[in-house]
Amino acid sequence: MPVSIDRVSEYLDRLEATAGRLEMARILGELLAELDSDEIEPAVYMVQGQLAPPFRGGEMGMSTKLVLRAIERALEGTREKPDTPLPELLAREGDPGTLAERVFSHHKTSHIDFATVFSGLRALSELEGQGSQDDKIEALADLFRSLSPLSSRFVARFVVGRLRLGVGDATLVDAMSRLIGTKIAKTEIEKAYNLCSDLGLVARILKQDGVEGLSGLKPRPGFPIRMALCERLSSGGEIFEKIGRCAVESKYDGFRCQVHCSEGKIQVFSRNLEETTAMFPEIVEAAGSLFGNRSAIFEGEALGYNAKTGGFFPFQVTITRKRKHNVLEKSQEIPLKALIFDLLYLDGESWLSRPFEERRKKLESLFPSHHFAVEERENAPRGVFGTSRLIMADHPSVIDEFFDEVVEEGFEGIIAKRLPGVYTAGSRNFNWIKLKRSYREGLSDTLDLALIGYYRGKGQRTRLGIGAVLAAAYDAERDVFVSIARIGSGLTEENWVALREMLEEIRADAPPPNVSSGVEPDFWVLPRFVVTVRADEITRSPTHACGKTETEEGYALRFPRMVSMVRADKRPADATTVAEIRGLYKQQREATSGGGKTLKSKRTSDRPEE
Ligand code: ATP
Repeated sequence: MPVSIDRVSEYLDRLEATAGRLEMARILGELLAELDSDEIEPAVYMVQGQLAPPFRGGEMGMSTKLVLRAIERALEGTREKPDTPLPELLAREGDPGTLAERVFSHHKTSHIDFATVFSGLRALSELEGQGSQDDKIEALADLFRSLSPLSSRFVARFVVGRLRLGVGDATLVDAMSRLIGTKIAKTEIEKAYNLCSDLGLVARILKQDGVEGLSGLKPRPGFPIRMALCERLSSGGEIFEKIGRCAVESKYDGFRCQVHCSEGKIQVFSRNLEETTAMFPEIVEAAGSLFGNRSAIFEGEALGYNAKTGGFFPFQVTITRKRKHNVLEKSQEIPLKALIFDLLYLDGESWLSRPFEERRKKLESLFPSHHFAVEERENAPRGVFGTSRLIMADHPSVIDEFFDEVVEEGFEGIIAKRLPGVYTAGSRNFNWIKLKRSYREGLSDTLDLALIGYYRGKGQRTRLGIGAVLAAAYDAERDVFVSIARIGSGLTEENWVALREMLEEIRADAPPPNVSSGVEPDFWVLPRFVVTVRADEITRSPTHACGKTETEEGYALRFPRMVSMVRADKRPADATTVAEIRGLYKQQREATSGGGKTLKSKRTSDRPEE
């Protein structure tokens, strides 16, 4: 029998009242067990507060105003219409969900199928053109008329994009693995998720075909593969000791692009798996003509190219290509070149588990090697693709020399690649090791932290309405954001105000369920935004929740300052993890006790970007 929207809402209600990840996974697991293979996919998206997997950009994003009008229309002609105007009631209730629950409190249980409601919402989101706003209001009003109070609460919240359940991907994976109940299931679910970035799809396959179905999953053009990430080390010697003879590439600072080609259809996905096709017309065109009707998935870094000098622009210039409008005009001014560094899929075959060396060889046969400058000067056909610059290192000094060379050319550093290493989708490990200029200049590496709260401004900052933010690392094992620092410097006044405005939009009344903090900010916010932070030192601290256990103190940052505004290319779960902080702390201790490289930075030489 189809599961009703009320049944799903009962589960959402239980989830909302639960803070612990284990308990959440248990409740979710029960819900998933009740659903059939057609229902489970939309249910996963619903719990994520989305209409589709995140990379399809499927939030409903209706304004609260529109939802109020739909509620008003649903009440028209009924005796329950409240005397108080709805905006006033909303101010009292605080959110459209509680308001809907209250004004429809006379409604009975609804037996409509969850799947019908969800596809109705999807259809509603697709309405566009003249008169569509009114059609949306009418369709939503119609839905409200037939929903119970509890379901109205969740539908209203979902529609305005505020279904704040605090369920992260890791919790969903746990919940799904409970359907099968073995450790192997969890590994296979994670693997499948890394291949397609779509937990709804993974849940459907699991329900339909069990774990065997998942193990047969291959990369699919159109579904971004979760990106492989690098570990860090601080010298050629350390790298060589770790992975031996290796390939070393320049580390380019531009836009990471995962390009998908399928029978002439080209799509580009960013580091955080958003579709960015529209930003890169030259890549789309070049990939189309290179691959024709073939299918392929490959990755590279796109950089602004200065035809006059034959060199690449710095990141600050490349980033100006990030825009929704006048893309073509801007592409004339700052054309992009893409330096391809990996091949993940070709003509129906996954290349992920082939060794790096083999992937690279194939890559070089598919793409021209990079000699843009020469090509442009000789008026050869304009090429968009090249391969990343690579050398083979059979001695630590070769790595160091190459590093010095690329830094001199103005690049960020190098990435060393383990020759037998597979492409480890969705994971950070020593198959790729980065060594950045900043590590060698005695500056510590930056951390990417999720914001979980902010403080009212005092003194000079009173008029900005914000004085500091509370930042958190990501505890990947528990799927929780754990406080590590209060940060009050690094931004211009203008950016502080812009940041406050962004944070106001995602304020929460209480600590969000997926947040653990030893300190209380003036305002909590949902962990959604990530900023890059530099600090002098990682210290042990009884205050913060990062890394804190019953027997051990937590970690904190000394003199933290933001070196970027919110990073659009990182999702909260991409924040630096507790395990990484632990590793950095260890490295820092070793460096100071050994008298060698220190992670302490020279504060004076450290100029914030903003
Ligand atoms: P960072 O903030 O240091 O860029 P990140 O967290 O975004 O790091 P990392 O795994 O730490 O990601 O660094 C790898 C990034 O470097 C990749 O995401 C990619 O965009 C970029 N990159 C530049 N050149 C290369 C290359 N030759 N091979 C692989 N990645 C490269």
